[in-house]
Amino acid sequence: MRVFKFGGASVKDAAGVKNSTEIIRGYAGDSLLVVVSAMGDTTNQLEALCNAFFRGPERQDETTALLQEIKINHEQIARELIADDKHPLFDELNNSFVELEWILEEEPHDNFDFVYDQIVSFGELLSTRIVATYLHEQGIPTRWADARNYIQTDNTYREGVVDWELTQSRIREDLPGILKKEVVVTQGFIGSTSENYTTTLGRDGSDYSAAIFAFCLDAESLTIWKDVQGVLNADPKWFNNTVKINKLTYNDAIELSYYGANVIHPKTIKPLQNKNIPLFVRSFLQPENPGTVVTSAYDDQLPIPCFIFKMNQRLISVHARDFSFIHEDGFSEIFRYFAESGTRINVMQNTAISFSVSVDDSEKVETLIEKLREKYKVLYNTGMELITIRYYNQETIDRVLKNKQLFLEQKSRYTVQLVVKDVEK
Ligand code: ASP
Ligand code: MG
Repeated sequence: MRVFKFGGASVKDAAGVKNSTEIIRGYAGDSLLVVVSAMGDTTNQLEALCNAFFRGPERQDETTALLQEIKINHEQIARELIADDKHPLFDELNNSFVELEWILEEEPHDNFDFVYDQIVSFGELLSTRIVATYLHEQGIPTRWADARNYIQTDNTYREGVVDWELTQSRIREDLPGILKKEVVVTQGFIGSTSENYTTTLGRDGSDYSAAIFAFCLDAESLTIWKDVQGVLNADPKWFNNTVKINKLTYNDAIELSYYGANVIHPKTIKPLQNKNIPLFVRSFLQPENPGTVVTSAYDDQLPIPCFIFKMNQRLISVHARDFSFIHEDGFSEIFRYFAESGTRINVMQNTAISFSVSVDDSEKVETLIEKLREKYKVLYNTGMELITIRYYNQETIDRVLKNKQLFLEQKSRYTVQLVVKDVEK
């Protein structure tokens, strides 16, 4: 059996749902489970709705307007796909909106993350209702499945931690039987606690959901359908002349997403790697193209250089106050401060007298620096850029350093990281 994942961009409107349906039709004869994200921008809209709701009654108008917008969007897409306005789909959508309205009529629970998950999860519930119904109407036997009956998590709202054993046994209990006869359409991104509260797996978590289903069902492959031709060697936003990578190893895919490449959700790869399930990243706009395949296979030839850019970095250097060295005890304390403030270190380097790190800049970092300053001397530069090149050579380094001033460089055999700033003119 196979698992497909369709992201928000692939089902952003009726034409997108039709296009995805044609792709699914080509594979529906074999067992197929389809994981779908929320349509287009819905998750962002639901986030805004949740924020407005949380800020209290004075935001009532905004809450109502946002809800209305989401409703109109989905109803319009559904109407374009399903001609019969008496079709049960319209009741199903309506019921979902009534449920959402119930949540919004209550006083918000004081745990924001909990409320967030109860609200934001509607995006996937709505999109899968529409997609499953359309597939069925198009003559493809389809079953809508509620992912919350399968993906079991703890109660870390907005970042649910999967209970693999329970999830696996739930999935194996009844999905294989259904998959023999029908295409199963289910939600990405969402799961459920043991008390049946909805959780989410973190933004962009639908890829991860698809990998969980693929792992538990021993799928022969997972295909993520995207609006790009496959995995590119750089984000076209920052780089001209990007190249598609045809083949990638699991380890390279993990490294690239770890360094910040925006292609595949970082948690997606491990479950696939553990069972050697190939991952295909393909374009829903050019489904005839093979895209990128991620497997364990190593070619003798190194892949092409890949570039990852992270903007808005703060480069921090920590020095002992008495100009002595920072010892292991000091490091363990410094790392603890970083962990407690929730600041992820993107690159680090130590010299005899200092310890330097580059981090994504935010308010948290300000607080962290104050804390560090109780004990250490701390200097920093803001507005930095972190460039990571996997499979670098001197030419690629020269290319990215053009008009840049280099502040920190770290090389390992295959990867170089450079913290830079534009040269001031
Ligand atoms: N809809 C969710 C999000 O936008 C999950 C996903 O798209 O993967 O974050
Ligand atoms: Mg999405």
